[in-house]
Amino acid sequence: MASNQPTHTVKGYTYSVWLRYLELTSIASFMSLTLISVTLLVRQTAEAPPAGLGWIIAGGFLAALLFADFASGFVHWAADNWGAPTWPVLGSAFIRPFREHHTDAEDITRHDFVELNGNNCLVSLPTFWMAFAFELTPGWRLFQGVFWICLAWWVLGTNQFHAWAHSPKLAWPVRWLQRTRLILSREHHDVHHEFPHNRNYCITTGWMNPLLRGVRFFELLEWGLERVTGVQPMHRQLSGARLEGKDPWPIDGVEVA
Ligand SMILES: [Zn+2]
Ligand SMILES: [Zn+2]
Repeated sequence: MASNQPTHTVKGYTYSVWLRYLELTSIASFMSLTLISVTLLVRQTAEAPPAGLGWIIAGGFLAALLFADFASGFVHWAADNWGAPTWPVLGSAFIRPFREHHTDAEDITRHDFVELNGNNCLVSLPTFWMAFAFELTPGWRLFQGVFWICLAWWVLGTNQFHAWAHSPKLAWPVRWLQRTRLILSREHHDVHHEFPHNRNYCITTGWMNPLLRGVRFFELLEWGLERVTGVQPMHRQLSGARLEGKDPWPIDGVEVA
């Protein structure tokens, strides 16, 4: 559809100026809420310090990392396999970017910080409310705060780690983090980019991928969804099209120039 809405251009990449404003506002809100939440949590904890403070903080940090990795895989799997890029809101915000990424994997490295991270800042904003949502004992209250604040930051890190897994040039600390598998490594993520893109969906650290594969998590979900909706997941449609000798990409609903 032709559009005469104002657009913003960054690194030769053009998109709606309203989306740019939304991304900038989301990042500013995310940073402000982090500062406020951490200050509140420190003050709360200082008033009634729980036993095992270090363990609680480490536990919240790690649980948030595992959950963020799982959530990245779940959202990625859903956007790759269900719905259409033409759907309102969800289509343009999630489905199209994930599917275009299969046909132009390096495009993600051409986005600037705002475009790369604005979306994840926006979806993470409710976690700052969750960090203080329930009245709990001092130990659980600290865990609640650390878990949700860390979760917001791991979600923010996800797109950045994913972009680094495709970047040809990286600073040595990032290469070290990838080599030690503390963040998503290129080798691990390359498996997802093998046709038909149905493995290693998790893109924060990738730690949850072997576990989810072991329990056949996505296969079971696909089996259930296919029975209910009668629609095959996109990776099966792509494989089927290629088996019939057709170009699989037009049915993905995304055309890349
Ligand atoms: Zn994908
Ligand atoms: Zn990728």
